[in-house]
Amino acid sequence: MVTTRFAPSPTGLLHIGHAWSALMGWRAARAEPGGRFLLRIEDIDSARCRPEYEQAIVDDMTWLGLTWDGPVRRQSDHLDDYRAALDRLQEAGLVYPCFCTRRQIRDEVRASASAPHGPLGLIYPGTCRPLSDEERQRRIEVGESYALRLDMEKAAALTGPLFWREKAGGEVAVDPMANGDVVVARKETAASYHLTVTVDDHLQGVTLINRGRDLYHATPIHRMLQALLGYDAPDYDHHGLLLDADGKRFAKRDRAVTIQALREAGYTPEQVIAMAEQLAASTAAIG
Ligand code: GLU
Repeated sequence: MVTTRFAPSPTGLLHIGHAWSALMGWRAARAEPGGRFLLRIEDIDSARCRPEYEQAIVDDMTWLGLTWDGPVRRQSDHLDDYRAALDRLQEAGLVYPCFCTRRQIRDEVRASASAPHGPLGLIYPGTCRPLSDEERQRRIEVGESYALRLDMEKAAALTGPLFWREKAGGEVAVDPMANGDVVVARKETAASYHLTVTVDDHLQGVTLINRGRDLYHATPIHRMLQALLGYDAPDYDHHGLLLDADGKRFAKRDRAVTIQALREAGYTPEQVIAMAEQLAASTAAIG
């Protein structure tokens, strides 16, 4: 039985591109008897998330008729779940503290001959990986800021080769090193997006993840975390992003195409969905 989800972050109003993404998940669930569609609020980054946007998400989804099953899961209510997953990674020796600032990382990468970049940005050069346990402990005790990074080489040695199933592309091989040693938590944040999304999809029994192609390159990280934590792997359907008339993807700052603005301008939910479909068809034609 299929379980899909829509997992927005309440950092702004939903726009037509979000409506498309939600619709993909909703349709996939409703197409199968017993299929479930879940709504999750990804508000782990408390500095950027606002309760009024969470309410707007609920209102917009309701207005669009994209009804979800069961209660809404709000990540900030489940920090213990992420902590437990992080503890398991730490106990397995797969995580290490990194004390580098963003600037230090950038300068170090620039100075290196290969200046490694991955699909998600700079690849962390591993500066803090060889620190001794004593030094780590000392720096944590004096109150230095740190991020906890996943040691990808160690992780990959443990899991062996990994794949994920992409709806339109069959099996996709995971390149564990593509994004380097990613951050899974910070001193002041219980877990990163990568960890929370992996834990939640598992705990909520999600079997198919419909999301935009912008997150395609995060999937190797999620697949790796699933394997390390012993979770089943869901299937993925990364859809094309809707583009505006200038060929740019819609962003939360595009006020005119927020669901709220369209509703206030007198569009019906059916018209908004038709608009999303039309944009998706023209995007596919371009892509
Ligand atoms: N919360 C993420 C976002 O709003 C989406 C997470 C996901 O679908 O995996 O971009």
